[in-house]
This record gives sequence, C-alpha cells and structure tokens, in this order.
Amino acid sequence: MSDAEESPTFEPAAPNTGDEFEPVDVFPDSDDFDLRPGADSCYKCSTCDTNCPVAEVDDDFPGPKFQGPEQWRLKQTDDDYTVDDSIMSCSNCMRCDNACPSGVPLSQMHNTARGEYVSEQMDTLSVEYVRNRILANYRTSAFLASKVPRLANVAMNFGPARWLMEKTLGVTRERDFPEFATQTFREWWADRGGADASRRNARERRERRGEPTDGEKKVAYFHGCYSNYNTPEVGKAMVRVYEHFGYEVVAPEQRCSGTPMFANGMLADARRHAEVNVSSMSDLVEEGYDAVASCTSCSMALRQEYPELFDIDGIEEVAANTFEALEYLRINEDLTGAVREAEVSGDLAREFAYHAPCHARNQGLDRQAVELFRDLEGAGIEDVGESCSGISGTYGWKEEKYEKSMEIGEEMFEHMAHAEGEVGMTECPTCAMQMEHGSGYEIRHPLELLEAALVE
Ligand code: SF4
Ligand code: SF4
Repeated sequence: MSDAEESPTFEPAAPNTGDEFEPVDVFPDSDDFDLRPGADSCYKCSTCDTNCPVAEVDDDFPGPKFQGPEQWRLKQTDDDYTVDDSIMSCSNCMRCDNACPSGVPLSQMHNTARGEYVSEQMDTLSVEYVRNRILANYRTSAFLASKVPRLANVAMNFGPARWLMEKTLGVTRERDFPEFATQTFREWWADRGGADASRRNARERRERRGEPTDGEKKVAYFHGCYSNYNTPEVGKAMVRVYEHFGYEVVAPEQRCSGTPMFANGMLADARRHAEVNVSSMSDLVEEGYDAVASCTSCSMALRQEYPELFDIDGIEEVAANTFEALEYLRINEDLTGAVREAEVSGDLAREFAYHAPCHARNQGLDRQAVELFRDLEGAGIEDVGESCSGISGTYGWKEEKYEKSMEIGEEMFEHMAHAEGEVGMTECPTCAMQMEHGSGYEIRHPLELLEAALVE
C-alpha cells in the first residue's frame, strides 16, 4: 500500500479562479496524502487536456483530467474501482500541472495512480513490466556499463543487438544509445581531490574576489545519473563555475533522483533511492549547504515529487533548499552582470537553439538561459518555442511510443531547423537526446557555456 493511501484526509484548498493565476496550496500539510479531496478543486475547464502533448497525438489517451480528478472521484464513490491502464501512457511531462488554473495536483495524482496500477494490477512477469523496470532503473545499467564503457558503447549500438532488444523487450531500435564516458564525473571528482580541493579552490577565489574566506558559500551537488555516467563535462562545468563564484562544492553519496521511476510507476524503487538522497542531502542542509542540481528533472524530483509522494525524515528541508544550478546563481550572485562583462571564444562561440524542458517550465525556469545568454558577447541564443520535446525520459524509448514521441517533438524540430544556430542547448539530458535525434545537432548544457564565458 502506498503512502498516499495510509494518510489522513484533509480539507481541499479553495480553487483559484481569479484572472491572475496564483498557485493554490492544495497540500498545506505534507503529512496529508489522501489526494481525493484535491479532485474537488477541478471545475472541468479541460485546460489540462488541451495542454497535454500525449493527448494531442494519441487518440486512445483520455488526458490528464480523466487520469487525475475524474479517476479520483470514481475511486471515492466505488471502492472496487481499479486504475485505468491508460495511466501508463502519461509521460509525466507535468505540463498539465502548470496549465491547471485551479491548482489541482495532477501529476501527483498521476504518479500515485500509476504506482498503484503497477503494484496492484500489472503482471510483474510481463514484458512491459520487465522493460519498464530496466528503463526506470537506468542507473543500474549505466553503473554496469561504466565499468567497461568502450565495450558498452559498441555493444549498445550494435545493430543485431538493438533489433533483439526491440523484439524481445520493446526498446526502440530507432534511437542511438547515449555514449558512456570513459571517466565518470565521480572518478574525475575523486582524482581531483574531492571536497578538499574544492574548498581550497573556492577559498582562493573568494580571496581574489575580496570576500570573507570563512564565508558560508557551500553547495551539495546533485549530479544525477546522466552527468555522472554520460556527460561528466556538465558536472565539471558546474563545479568550476561554482568555484569561480567562491562556492565550496561537495558531491555527497546519491542515487537516481527517481524521475524515470515515477514515470513508470516504480514507486518502491523510487522510494529506496529517495531515502539515500534525502538522508545525505538533509545532513548537509542542516550544516548550511544548499542542494544544487544540473538537471531540471532532478531538481523537480527533489523539490516537488519527493514531498508529494514520500514521507521521509528531512524531506521538507531538502525540498525547500534544492535549486537548479543557474537558478541558484541568479538568486545569490550577480550572474547577469558577470555574463554581460564576459566574452566567449573558441568551441562555444556559437549560435544556440535553446529548448526549455517541460520540467524547467514547471519550476518557472524556462526563460532563464535565454535571458542570461542574450547579452553574452561571442554567442547567440534563440528559444525554439514552448512545445514538449516528446521524449519525456523513458517514454520515447518505448517501441510503441516512439512514433508518438517524434510527432510531439515535430514542432521543436521545425523551430530548430529555422533557428540561426546549428547547436542545440537544454538542461535536460533526455530532451538533449531527442533534439540530437530529430535535428542532428550537437547539444550542449547552459553550464558548459557559462564555464566557457566565465572560468579562466
Ligand atoms: S503529465 Fe504530461 S503526458 Fe501526463 S497527463 Fe499531464 S500533460 Fe499529459
Ligand atoms: S485544468 Fe485543472 S480545473 Fe481544468 S479540467 Fe484540468 S484539472 Fe480540472
């Protein structure tokens, strides 16, 4: 039984029906996990349905209004009601959360319903369950592949093996598997001297900036799986940029943020990983660290999905002190001023076609990279629009979803083709995969451009 079912009920928040959208505090107390009263805030405007990228391309998907408030109402009136299997077609892009003018906690409802469907109704011996479990536990595959990265890179993209994976597991062979780095971020971090080296670098930098060397500038880096195993250059850029501003960085023990597990209804797996993450991050938060993530889905998980779905000691403190990497520097430093005075040359002196991930949009971060880099000398940036990239983590890796995923991404691909730049930029690793797949462009992370602009 999930946490959601065990908790007491609570009064629903008043719907926000004013002209100006103000988020409604539907869950004033995180101990209250029974979602059914949240359904009462829905006034059936269908805005969520018209903003759902999956409903737009999949006629069999009934949309977020049904998946959320309507199913919860049905559960309220019929104790024998079972979750509709279409919940597995929701990609967990969370765009419906943002769209709802009444603050209905749609993605929380979807995540909880999906968890219930998987644990109570899904056949754990089915191919779909096995495939989803493998995709959701990407960290395990990546950990194993990182032990033999060169071999894994050849094997994972070997044609007959891909054909077999599609036929037996339903993992599309249309996409190239991302490359595994020959040195993970954590290996680089340890070779470089770990937290001690970062402390020395940050203090030196603070001295040069004329700031107190015993200051409280310290962050705990949540690098996530992808920056660790596939794109350590993003993690390195994060460390160097933060040290440039005088921050001492630590890279605590961590597991997957849980994002692919939520999307596949693997809540028990997600909880196990969340317990490790919350435990190490909450100890650091108590010591005055803030948690900073370079992936917008990871920051989303720590700050929103964890407290919505789990009741773990310290979870509220971690959620309240988690930030996305650029967001944190924008809040605490004159990042805009520093970028305005900088000039980028070399490899990253380019025009970028920027896509804001849906999960960045949910955190109000969708414009920050464009606003930040538009004043940067030597580089240009253009927003390629508001559409979803379509891959949504593991969704676009499923054979039966691949075509739909590409159809959702079509608008973004078209905007990329019309943008001046031929290099893409985004904060989300799977959006980057989709951008690269649909456009053929190389894709970079905003932290890499920031490093090129600011760090000597
Ligand atoms: S999370 Fe995304 S795919 Fe799922 S119902 Fe909401 S908008 Fe649709
Ligand atoms: S947008 Fe919100 S209020 Fe409107 S139908 Fe969807 S859940 Fe209900």
